[in-house]
Amino acid sequence: MLAYTYVENGKFELQEKNKPKIKEPQDAIIRVTLGSICSSDLHIKHGSVPRAIQGVTVGHEMVGIVEEIGPDVISVKPGDRVTVNVETFCGKCFFCRHGYVNNCTDPNGGWALGCLIDGGQAEYVRVPYANQGLNRIPDTVTDEQALFVGDILATGYWATRISKISEDDTVLIIGAGPTGICTLLCTMLKKPRRIIVCEKSPERILFVRKYYPEVLVTEPQNCKEVVLSNSSHGGADVVLEVAGTENTFHLAWECARPNAIVTIVALYDKPQILPLPSMYGKNLTFKTGGVDGCDCAEILKLIDEGKIDTTPLITHKFPLNEIGKAYHIFENKLEGVIKIAITGNNTI
Ligand SMILES: [Zn+2]
Ligand SMILES: [Zn+2]
Repeated sequence: MLAYTYVENGKFELQEKNKPKIKEPQDAIIRVTLGSICSSDLHIKHGSVPRAIQGVTVGHEMVGIVEEIGPDVISVKPGDRVTVNVETFCGKCFFCRHGYVNNCTDPNGGWALGCLIDGGQAEYVRVPYANQGLNRIPDTVTDEQALFVGDILATGYWATRISKISEDDTVLIIGAGPTGICTLLCTMLKKPRRIIVCEKSPERILFVRKYYPEVLVTEPQNCKEVVLSNSSHGGADVVLEVAGTENTFHLAWECARPNAIVTIVALYDKPQILPLPSMYGKNLTFKTGGVDGCDCAEILKLIDEGKIDTTPLITHKFPLNEIGKAYHIFENKLEGVIKIAITGNNTI
């Protein structure tokens, strides 16, 4: 089968590999029908994920059809259409039992697919702990609608859940990339009084204005002023930092009102400074990133009910054998790309 592979620093390549086999009793083999490219894949390509293993098939955003299951898999059966969770988790350890599945203590716990073990930019993928890692897609939900459930949408859902948003709140979301927009969609479900999105890319500003006209959009240089004039208590009640660029951490706490919750969803390249003297007396609560992707069933239900729609994010589509072209567009942010869907080309 074809598998897009991390060869060495800076180089991914489409290779011919054997179809994966069941190794453990809780494994499932999935025929990938639709996948996507995530900025974390680019982080692997550029060497900023040191634990990623050379030779691994990349890709951790996908949906597909269960082809085969191990003897201990009870949650799905062959033929089921499923979402695949970005995280592998045992469901039994201390952290899993408390819902902190990102910190699962299993050796493959956390983000393993497409990093430590072969992922889904391929025709088939082996998913360990399939009882936890797969969710059946309702017949009324398409592959396109379900594509982001296991990763970026799980992230947006988790981020808004831990941010404790109420209907009186002014919520600031920094960054309108794919995860920022998923965070926006999940924030909208909480019906806060006002949502402000801060974004610097003119294309993404237009995207937000087009699809979510009720949301206030600002550029970073005007962000603080816009937040101040649109909040009742001297800043945002909740800030979600989803950009992860040079000054966005600073912007996040600066735009927060005293006693606000500041949730850091972004993954930074560099350490960030927490200038405690300047924020003394603001009494902020910071929550830090690393999605606990255990809400996929709930998210699929919301999609089925028409409450979340991420299909506008799919701006491009390529077959697996042209995935190199897709990476080129995604990596260089060409043609107004937000997300690219990779369609399976199964000849078997
Ligand atoms: Zn991802
Ligand atoms: Zn666990």
